[in-house]
Amino acid sequence: MNEIFGPTVQGEGPSSGRRCGFLRLGGCNLSCRWCDTPYTWDWKGVSNLGKAFDPRVELVPRDADEVAEQLIDMGVDLVVISGGEPLSQQERLLPVLRKLRAAGISMEIETNGTIAPTDAVISTGVRFNVSPKLSHAGDPHDRRIVTDALRELNQTDAVAFKFVCRTADDLDEVQQLDDSLNLRSIWIMPEGNTVHSVNRHLMDLADEIVRRKWNISTRLHVLAWEDKRGV
Ligand code: SF4
Repeated sequence: MNEIFGPTVQGEGPSSGRRCGFLRLGGCNLSCRWCDTPYTWDWKGVSNLGKAFDPRVELVPRDADEVAEQLIDMGVDLVVISGGEPLSQQERLLPVLRKLRAAGISMEIETNGTIAPTDAVISTGVRFNVSPKLSHAGDPHDRRIVTDALRELNQTDAVAFKFVCRTADDLDEVQQLDDSLNLRSIWIMPEGNTVHSVNRHLMDLADEIVRRKWNISTRLHVLAWEDKRGV
Protein backbone atom coordinates (compact mmCIF):
# COMPACT_ATOMS: atom_id res chain seq x y z
CA MET A 1 0.00 0.00 0.00
CA ASN A 2 1.15 3.56 -0.69
CA GLU A 3 -1.21 5.76 1.32
CA ILE A 4 -4.68 6.29 2.79
CA PHE A 5 -5.97 9.84 2.81
CA GLY A 6 -9.16 11.82 3.24
CA PRO A 7 -11.79 12.91 3.67
CA THR A 8 -11.31 14.63 0.33
CA VAL A 9 -13.30 14.63 -2.92
CA GLN A 10 -13.25 12.38 -5.95
CA GLY A 11 -11.58 14.64 -8.51
CA GLU A 12 -12.38 12.83 -11.75
CA GLY A 13 -15.10 11.01 -13.68
CA PRO A 14 -18.80 10.44 -13.05
CA SER A 15 -18.51 10.88 -9.25
CA SER A 16 -16.43 14.04 -9.50
CA GLY A 17 -17.04 16.25 -6.48
CA ARG A 18 -18.27 13.47 -4.16
CA ARG A 19 -16.77 13.47 -0.69
CA CYS A 20 -14.66 10.34 -0.26
CA GLY A 21 -11.67 8.57 1.19
CA PHE A 22 -8.74 7.32 -0.91
CA LEU A 23 -6.78 4.09 -0.72
CA ARG A 24 -3.73 4.29 -2.96
CA LEU A 25 -1.96 1.02 -3.76
CA GLY A 26 1.57 0.57 -5.02
CA GLY A 27 2.87 -0.99 -8.23
CA CYS A 28 1.79 -0.57 -11.84
CA ASN A 29 2.13 -2.72 -14.96
CA LEU A 30 2.41 0.40 -17.19
CA SER A 31 4.86 3.31 -17.21
CA CYS A 32 2.98 6.33 -18.56
CA ARG A 33 5.43 9.15 -19.17
CA TRP A 34 3.04 11.81 -17.76
CA CYS A 35 1.90 9.70 -14.76
CA ASP A 36 0.92 11.93 -11.82
CA THR A 37 1.61 9.21 -9.24
CA PRO A 38 5.07 7.89 -10.21
CA TYR A 39 5.88 7.51 -6.52
CA THR A 40 3.67 4.38 -6.55
CA TRP A 41 5.73 2.48 -9.16
CA ASP A 42 8.64 4.38 -10.71
CA TRP A 43 11.71 2.94 -9.00
CA LYS A 44 14.00 3.77 -11.99
CA GLY A 45 13.04 7.35 -12.89
CA VAL A 46 11.50 6.58 -16.31
CA SER A 47 8.51 8.97 -16.10
CA ASN A 48 8.72 12.60 -17.24
CA LEU A 49 9.58 13.59 -13.68
CA GLY A 50 12.86 11.69 -14.07
CA LYS A 51 12.99 10.84 -10.38
CA ALA A 52 13.58 7.31 -9.07
CA PHE A 53 11.44 6.73 -5.99
CA ASP A 54 12.35 4.27 -3.25
CA PRO A 55 9.79 1.48 -2.67
CA ARG A 56 11.10 1.13 0.92
CA VAL A 57 9.94 4.70 1.51
CA GLU A 58 6.78 4.75 -0.60
CA LEU A 59 5.23 1.34 0.13
CA VAL A 60 4.16 -0.24 3.39
CA PRO A 61 2.51 -3.65 3.95
CA ARG A 62 -0.81 -3.27 5.78
CA ASP A 63 -3.31 -5.74 7.15
CA ALA A 64 -6.61 -5.75 5.19
CA ASP A 65 -8.75 -5.41 8.33
CA GLU A 66 -6.75 -2.42 9.53
CA VAL A 67 -7.04 -0.73 6.13
CA ALA A 68 -10.80 -1.26 6.01
CA GLU A 69 -11.27 0.00 9.58
CA GLN A 70 -9.23 3.15 8.91
CA LEU A 71 -11.37 3.91 5.86
CA ILE A 72 -14.64 3.19 7.69
CA ASP A 73 -13.54 5.43 10.58
CA MET A 74 -13.10 8.28 8.10
CA GLY A 75 -16.89 8.67 7.99
CA VAL A 76 -17.22 8.84 4.20
CA ASP A 77 -19.84 7.10 2.05
CA LEU A 78 -17.48 6.59 -0.91
CA VAL A 79 -13.99 5.06 -1.04
CA VAL A 80 -11.84 5.37 -4.17
CA ILE A 81 -9.16 2.72 -4.66
CA SER A 82 -6.43 3.99 -6.92
CA GLY A 83 -2.75 3.38 -7.62
CA GLY A 84 -0.67 2.36 -9.32
CA GLU A 85 -2.86 -0.39 -10.75
CA PRO A 86 -5.21 -1.77 -8.07
CA LEU A 87 -6.36 -4.80 -10.09
CA SER A 88 -2.82 -6.19 -10.10
CA GLN A 89 -3.43 -7.10 -6.44
CA GLN A 90 -7.18 -7.68 -6.51
CA GLU A 91 -7.07 -10.90 -4.46
CA ARG A 92 -5.46 -9.06 -1.55
CA LEU A 93 -7.88 -6.17 -2.04
CA LEU A 94 -10.99 -8.37 -1.88
CA PRO A 95 -11.30 -8.52 1.96
CA VAL A 96 -11.13 -4.72 2.09
CA LEU A 97 -13.87 -4.41 -0.53
CA ARG A 98 -16.08 -6.87 1.33
CA LYS A 99 -15.69 -5.01 4.63
CA LEU A 100 -16.43 -1.64 3.04
CA ARG A 101 -19.49 -3.05 1.34
CA ALA A 102 -20.72 -4.54 4.61
CA ALA A 103 -20.35 -1.07 6.14
CA GLY A 104 -22.60 0.38 3.41
CA ILE A 105 -19.80 2.32 1.71
CA SER A 106 -19.79 2.75 -2.08
CA MET A 107 -16.51 1.90 -3.82
CA GLU A 108 -14.75 2.82 -7.05
CA ILE A 109 -11.61 1.27 -8.50
CA GLU A 110 -9.47 3.39 -10.80
CA THR A 111 -7.89 1.01 -13.31
CA ASN A 112 -5.90 1.27 -16.53
CA GLY A 113 -8.06 -1.46 -18.10
CA THR A 114 -5.30 -4.00 -18.80
CA ILE A 115 -6.38 -6.55 -16.16
CA ALA A 116 -9.83 -8.14 -16.02
CA PRO A 117 -11.51 -8.12 -12.59
CA THR A 118 -12.42 -11.45 -10.98
CA ASP A 119 -16.06 -12.42 -10.44
CA ALA A 120 -15.47 -12.08 -6.69
CA VAL A 121 -14.37 -8.45 -7.06
CA ILE A 122 -17.25 -7.67 -9.43
CA SER A 123 -19.72 -9.19 -6.94
CA THR A 124 -18.79 -6.59 -4.32
CA GLY A 125 -20.65 -4.00 -6.42
CA VAL A 126 -17.58 -1.82 -6.92
CA ARG A 127 -17.67 0.67 -9.82
CA PHE A 128 -14.80 0.51 -12.32
CA ASN A 129 -13.44 3.79 -13.62
CA VAL A 130 -11.43 2.44 -16.54
CA SER A 131 -8.76 4.68 -18.04
CA PRO A 132 -7.17 3.00 -21.09
CA LYS A 133 -3.97 4.76 -22.03
CA LEU A 134 -3.59 6.40 -25.46
CA SER A 135 -0.39 6.51 -27.51
CA HIS A 136 0.84 9.73 -25.85
CA ALA A 137 1.29 7.74 -22.61
CA GLY A 138 4.35 6.16 -24.23
CA ASP A 139 4.00 2.40 -23.67
CA PRO A 140 3.64 0.07 -26.73
CA HIS A 141 0.05 -0.48 -27.93
CA ASP A 142 -0.03 -4.14 -26.86
CA ARG A 143 0.84 -3.22 -23.27
CA ARG A 144 -1.64 -0.32 -23.04
CA ILE A 145 -4.64 -1.83 -24.80
CA VAL A 146 -5.71 -5.32 -23.70
CA THR A 147 -8.89 -5.93 -25.65
CA ASP A 148 -10.10 -8.95 -23.66
CA ALA A 149 -9.81 -7.07 -20.36
CA LEU A 150 -11.61 -4.04 -21.80
CA ARG A 151 -14.43 -6.25 -23.11
CA GLU A 152 -14.89 -7.83 -19.68
CA LEU A 153 -14.87 -4.49 -17.90
CA ASN A 154 -17.35 -3.14 -20.46
CA GLN A 155 -19.80 -5.87 -19.43
CA THR A 156 -19.79 -5.06 -15.71
CA ASP A 157 -22.82 -3.28 -14.25
CA ALA A 158 -21.02 -0.16 -13.04
CA VAL A 159 -18.37 1.05 -15.43
CA ALA A 160 -17.16 4.30 -16.94
CA PHE A 161 -14.34 4.76 -19.44
CA LYS A 162 -12.22 7.82 -18.77
CA PHE A 163 -9.62 9.00 -21.28
CA VAL A 164 -6.85 11.50 -20.63
CA CYS A 165 -6.70 13.72 -23.75
CA ARG A 166 -4.79 16.74 -24.98
CA THR A 167 -5.51 16.98 -28.71
CA ALA A 168 -8.08 16.17 -31.38
CA ASP A 169 -5.85 13.25 -32.42
CA ASP A 170 -6.34 11.81 -28.94
CA LEU A 171 -10.12 11.99 -29.46
CA ASP A 172 -9.70 10.09 -32.75
CA GLU A 173 -7.92 7.31 -30.83
CA VAL A 174 -10.82 7.15 -28.38
CA GLN A 175 -13.21 6.97 -31.34
CA GLN A 176 -11.33 4.00 -32.80
CA LEU A 177 -11.60 2.14 -29.50
CA ASP A 178 -15.27 2.98 -29.19
CA ASP A 179 -15.92 1.85 -32.77
CA SER A 180 -14.36 -1.56 -32.07
CA LEU A 181 -15.61 -2.13 -28.49
CA ASN A 182 -18.83 -0.06 -28.21
CA LEU A 183 -17.76 1.35 -24.86
CA ARG A 184 -20.37 2.35 -22.30
CA SER A 185 -20.20 5.78 -20.64
CA ILE A 186 -17.21 7.60 -22.17
CA TRP A 187 -15.66 10.48 -20.23
CA ILE A 188 -12.93 12.71 -21.62
CA MET A 189 -10.59 14.31 -19.10
CA PRO A 190 -8.03 17.02 -19.97
CA GLU A 191 -4.42 16.09 -19.26
CA GLY A 192 -2.49 18.34 -16.88
CA ASN A 193 -1.06 18.74 -13.39
CA THR A 194 -1.60 22.51 -13.17
CA VAL A 195 -4.75 24.64 -13.29
CA HIS A 196 -3.48 26.28 -16.47
CA SER A 197 -2.78 23.05 -18.37
CA VAL A 198 -6.04 21.35 -17.32
CA ASN A 199 -8.13 24.36 -18.34
CA ARG A 200 -6.23 24.90 -21.60
CA HIS A 201 -6.76 21.30 -22.74
CA LEU A 202 -10.39 21.45 -21.59
CA MET A 203 -11.08 24.60 -23.61
CA ASP A 204 -9.30 23.14 -26.66
CA LEU A 205 -11.43 19.97 -26.63
CA ALA A 206 -14.82 20.79 -25.08
CA ASP A 207 -16.77 21.55 -28.28
CA GLU A 208 -15.53 18.43 -30.04
CA ILE A 209 -16.23 16.21 -27.02
CA VAL A 210 -19.85 17.39 -26.90
CA ARG A 211 -20.20 16.98 -30.67
CA ARG A 212 -19.12 13.34 -30.33
CA LYS A 213 -21.80 12.79 -27.63
CA TRP A 214 -19.29 12.03 -24.85
CA ASN A 215 -19.06 13.34 -21.29
CA ILE A 216 -16.50 15.76 -19.88
CA SER A 217 -14.61 15.44 -16.62
CA THR A 218 -12.27 18.07 -15.28
CA ARG A 219 -9.63 17.31 -12.60
CA LEU A 220 -11.10 18.91 -9.49
CA HIS A 221 -8.21 17.99 -7.18
CA VAL A 222 -5.77 19.74 -9.56
CA LEU A 223 -7.99 22.83 -9.73
CA ALA A 224 -8.21 22.90 -5.92
CA TRP A 225 -4.74 21.73 -4.86
CA GLU A 226 -2.61 21.42 -8.05
CA ASP A 227 -0.04 18.62 -7.55
CA LYS A 228 -0.07 18.47 -3.75
CA ARG A 229 0.03 14.88 -2.44
CA GLY A 230 -2.44 13.33 0.01
CA VAL A 231 -5.49 15.47 -0.77
FE1 SF4 B 1 0.55 5.98 -13.73
FE2 SF4 B 1 -1.91 5.05 -14.12
FE3 SF4 B 1 -0.14 4.99 -16.11
FE4 SF4 B 1 0.15 3.35 -14.03
S1 SF4 B 1 -1.52 3.35 -15.55
S2 SF4 B 1 1.78 4.55 -14.98
S3 SF4 B 1 -0.56 4.65 -12.33
S4 SF4 B 1 -1.01 6.83 -15.13
